[in-house]
Amino acid sequence: MTPSTLRIGRRYRPTRLADSYDAIVIGSGMGGLTSAALLSDLGFRVCVLEQHYTAGGYTHSYERNGYEWDVGVHYIGDVGAKTRSRQMFDYLSDGKLEWAPMDAEYDRFYIGEKLFSAKAGKREYRDNLVRQFPGEEQAIDRYLKLLDRAGAALPAYGMKQVLGFWPRLLMSPYLSFKLPSVLFRNTYDVLSELTDDQDLIAVLCGQWGDMGLPPKRSTFLVHAMIVRHYLYGGYYPIGGSWRIADSIIPKIQATGGEVFTYAQVERIDVENATVTGVTMKDGHRIACNCVISSAGVGNTFQKLLPGDVAAQAGYERRLKTVEPSYAHLGVYIGLKSTADELGLPKTNFWIYPDNDYDAAVARFVEDKDAPFPVVYISFPSAKDPDYLRRHPGTATIEIVAPAPYQWFEQWRDETWGKRGDDYDAFKEALGERLMSHLYDKLPQLRGKVDYYEVSTPLSTNWFGGYQQGELYGLAHTPERMKQKWLRPRTSIPGLWLTGQDILTCGVTGAMMAGMLTTTSIVGIRRMMPLLKRIYSQ
Ligand SMILES: Cc1cc2nc3c(=O)[nH]c(=O)nc-3n(C[C@H](O)[C@H](O)[C@H](O)COP(=O)(O)OP(=O)(O)OC[C@H]3O[C@@H](n4cnc5c(N)ncnc54)[C@H](O)[C@@H]3O)c2cc1C
Repeated sequence: MTPSTLRIGRRYRPTRLADSYDAIVIGSGMGGLTSAALLSDLGFRVCVLEQHYTAGGYTHSYERNGYEWDVGVHYIGDVGAKTRSRQMFDYLSDGKLEWAPMDAEYDRFYIGEKLFSAKAGKREYRDNLVRQFPGEEQAIDRYLKLLDRAGAALPAYGMKQVLGFWPRLLMSPYLSFKLPSVLFRNTYDVLSELTDDQDLIAVLCGQWGDMGLPPKRSTFLVHAMIVRHYLYGGYYPIGGSWRIADSIIPKIQATGGEVFTYAQVERIDVENATVTGVTMKDGHRIACNCVISSAGVGNTFQKLLPGDVAAQAGYERRLKTVEPSYAHLGVYIGLKSTADELGLPKTNFWIYPDNDYDAAVARFVEDKDAPFPVVYISFPSAKDPDYLRRHPGTATIEIVAPAPYQWFEQWRDETWGKRGDDYDAFKEALGERLMSHLYDKLPQLRGKVDYYEVSTPLSTNWFGGYQQGELYGLAHTPERMKQKWLRPRTSIPGLWLTGQDILTCGVTGAMMAGMLTTTSIVGIRRMMPLLKRIYSQ
C-alpha cells in the first residue's frame, strides 16, 4: 500500500508563522477557507490552522495505489449558470475552478424493486415527476411552489444569522413573515399534506442522504434547500474536489496569510472572558484577538474552549438542544479500466430497501444485519473530464452508507491503520455487503475491481476531528434550525463560528456560512462593496 501523496497547504512549524495575524481560522474546510479568503481581500492577514496533513476539510481528496478519491464531495448544484453560488466560487478561485455537468439524470433512486430519477432543469424535473406519478400532478405543482417559498426565505434566514440583538428584534415581524413556520416542520408532515402516495414522498426525499436525516426527522427548510440546490443538475469540480481548496489558498496568501497543515489547535485561549489566541498541540501559543472556529460547534465548545468558559457563556446548556448527525461508512474503489469501458454513468445511485426511510433507519440502528437504509454510489472518474489525464486507464467509484459511531467506539483510542483484526474483519464484512449492492446494479463490474478500502466513523474522527465521526456536523432537525445561538457571533468576545454548523451542510452551505461570518466580523457596511464586486463579476 502506498501512502497518500495529494497534499496541499504548508506544513506548520512555529518558525514559519508571521509575527502577528489579524485573524486565526481553525480548520481549512470550505467554511474556514471562505472566511479566510474574504477577510484577506479586506486586508486581514489570516492564519488558517488545519490539523490534517492536507487542507480542504471534507473537500480534500487522497491518492492511494494509483487512484484518487474525494471524501466529502460528489456533486454540487447551482453552478451551471451565473448564480450567487457560482459567482462566489468564481471569486474565491479567481475563476480557476471549473465545473463539469453530470448526466441530465443526475440522481437515480432504486426504491425496493422500483426505479425513479431526478432530471436537471425545473421544468424537466417537474415533467419527469409527473411522468412517474401521473395522478399526482397537483401535488407536484404545490410541492414546487413550496420549494419556491423556501427559496425566497433563504436570504432572510441568512440575515437572521448576522443581525445583532436589537436589529433582529426590530426586524422580527419581517423575519417571521419571510420565515413561515411550515419551513421549520418536519419534511414528512409537510409532504403528507400534499399527497398520500408514499412512493412520491420517497422520491421527493430521495436525496435525504445529502443532509443526513430521513423525512420524519429532517427540517423541511433544509430538505427544500437541497432539492433546489440540485434542481438544475449536478456538477463536479474538474480536476477533483481537492481543486476547491487548492484554488482558494492563493487568495489567502496574497495578503501575507497562510494555510498550515499538521497544525492542530489544542485550546482556544481566553483571558478575562475574552479570546486572546490559540495554543497549538506542540504547546506553541499564537496570540490573536480574532479566532474563527470552523471545527464544528461540538469541538469548539467541548474540546477547544476551557470547560468553565463554555459553561459560563451558556454553551454547555445550549449544546443539549442539538445532536450530532449520523456517521458513515465509505468504500473507495479502484478499477483498471476507464469509466467509458466499464459503462459507468455520471449519475448518482441511491438504493433503498423500501419507501419508508425512517423505519429502515430505525431497523438498521437496532440491528447491524438489517438492510442498509440507504446505499449511495457515485462515479467520480466518470464525472471528471480531467481524471484520465491524471490516472490513465483507470476508474474510481465511491460508496457511502450510514453506520452508528457506537458500533466502532471500542476502537476509538487505537491508531489509524492499527486497530486490530476484529476491527478490520468488522469493517471488511460491512464493505463486502456494500460491494454486493454495487455488483447488483452493475454486474459487469464483477471481477474488474482492482482495489478497495473501507472507511468507518473512526476514520472521520481521525482525519476530520469530528468527535462522533459525524457526516454533516450537527443533525438538521427542526430544533437545530430554530436555535438562535448557532450563528457566527458567539457570546465570547473574539470568538466566531463558521462552517456547516451555523447554516447547513454542503460545500455551498459552508461557503455561505463563511460569507456570513466575515460579514458579522467586519460589519455589513464594510462588506457591501466587496459583495457588490463579487456579484457584479
Ligand atoms: C461522505 C460525504 C459526502 C458529501 N458529499 C457532498 C456533496 O456531494 N456535495 C456537497 O455539497 N457536500 C457534500 N458533503 C458535505 C460537505 O462536504 C460538508 O458539509 C462541508 O464540506 C463542510 O465544510 P466545513 O468547512 O463546515 O467543515 P469541514 O470541511 O469538516 O472542515 C473542518 C476542518 O476543521 C479541521 N479541524 C477540526 N478540529 C481542528 C483542530 N483542533 N485544529 C485544527 N483543525 C481542526 C478538520 O480537520 C477539518 O479539516 C459530503 C460530506 C461527506 C462526509
